[in-house]
Amino acid sequence: MLSDKKNLDNLSKTEREHTTTYGSRYFTKTVPKYVMPVNGMPARAAYQIIHDELNLDGNPALNLASFVTTWMEPEADKLIMESIGKNYVDNDEYPQTQIIQNRVVNMLARLFNAPKKCNSIGSGTIGSSESIMLGLLAHKWTWKKRREAEGKSTDKPNIVMGADVHTVWEKFARYFDVELKLIPLKKNMCKTTETEITKVMSSFSCISGLEEDIYTITADEIKALVDENTIAVGAVAGTTFTGQMDPIEEINTALLEIKEAEGWDIPIHVDAASGGFVLPFLYPEIKWDFRLEQVRSINVSGHKYGLVYPGVGWLIFKDKTDLPEELIFNINYLGGIMPNYSLNFSKGSGTIIAQYYNLIRLGMEGYKKIMENMQENASYLAAKLNGSAKFEVINKSITFPMVTVQLHNCDFTVFHLSEKLRQKGWIVPAYTLPANAEDIAVLRMVVKESFSKDMVEMFYSDMMEAVEKLEQTEEERLKKIDENKNPSLLY
Ligand SMILES: *Cc1c(COP(=O)(O)O)cnc(C)c1O
Repeated sequence: MLSDKKNLDNLSKTEREHTTTYGSRYFTKTVPKYVMPVNGMPARAAYQIIHDELNLDGNPALNLASFVTTWMEPEADKLIMESIGKNYVDNDEYPQTQIIQNRVVNMLARLFNAPKKCNSIGSGTIGSSESIMLGLLAHKWTWKKRREAEGKSTDKPNIVMGADVHTVWEKFARYFDVELKLIPLKKNMCKTTETEITKVMSSFSCISGLEEDIYTITADEIKALVDENTIAVGAVAGTTFTGQMDPIEEINTALLEIKEAEGWDIPIHVDAASGGFVLPFLYPEIKWDFRLEQVRSINVSGHKYGLVYPGVGWLIFKDKTDLPEELIFNINYLGGIMPNYSLNFSKGSGTIIAQYYNLIRLGMEGYKKIMENMQENASYLAAKLNGSAKFEVINKSITFPMVTVQLHNCDFTVFHLSEKLRQKGWIVPAYTLPANAEDIAVLRMVVKESFSKDMVEMFYSDMMEAVEKLEQTEEERLKKIDENKNPSLLY
């Protein structure tokens, strides 16, 4: 008998052309994993092998873990494909992409209520992480220049924020050598039914009137920690952990008092990675943005509620003067002079263009409608879970379309439940809250635009089934299998 290879090698050209992908020899060989193969393989075989391997990834539509967009309109997909070969940084070759980026920056600065007298500037980034690093770096420089001008020491910069911040803030402190003054969270820090948000929220909140434990920081805690070496205060609009919001307006007031009393002009950088595209549409009256004097820079993830695929974030400075000139590099080797403020160099243009597509395609009304739908579905899910006696919702006011729950009197943990749900394909993360609330373990469900009420119903029913299975004793489990084997009734 001939070997596979010989067989194929002996095939005529026509025969080979007619061999189906799965009939080719590439499907009975292991794929190259560690060493680049000497010879390649036909495109369709390579495609099929990789495509099939990727089936092992989770299904993005069932992924409630990530805030990141998993669906866009076909027209957006088309624009992305059309610009996939364009390097965003090649400003001279692709000037229109740069112009489009600047339009987005303009729209966002206005969306975040930049005062008319300010000359706001900003930039597209790879995500909020890059935006936060760049924003804080600018504040570090401004602080350093001011201290130098005053003839004071610049060797002990610090940054003040709550433990409710995303890891990237701690990364900034370590990478850029700034002392991190982290305020630990306290359990049950504040029980309230009348936060500013619950008042505004009453039209949505189907479980309002219940007490809510807040896992954020207070303005007093910030006040106690800042000093002349504080380069900035970090505040989060939509924490990763519970979806609650730092009291930004109160922090601003506290910093204004300090400016008056001590002369320290400490800027606030607002991390609106998830909240920046929600607040302006659902709660335009809440002041968290450039309306507040000390808020000098804001980041937002275009790829979260900006509704664009992964790979785009935005950084907006209230005024040109908030970004020290020394940090802007004028690059001339791509032709023309190109000002650049970024950590990396080359990147795709597609997501920037897709962001502009969403802004003009949806408009204020379109974003508002989508946010309202997500909010309604998140509130619906929260009310169902809270009513089930198995869960307690933490962020009862559902300011942002996400639901964080704790388990109520159960023998199993959120970690068991997360694993059980995974068997059905649902991806729901379980984790403990940051210090000092690390004894609280939660499940978090992010409701995205594609998560319909129908999906909520299916998810809830799978969630309750998972709970039931985890509560079953071995005996009950076997009995159930037995019953299913011998159904007494046929429907
Ligand atoms: C997601 C998130 C980040 C990180 O943003 P990327 O866009 O993923 O880089 C930072 N802060 C908060 C509050 C977030 O939710």
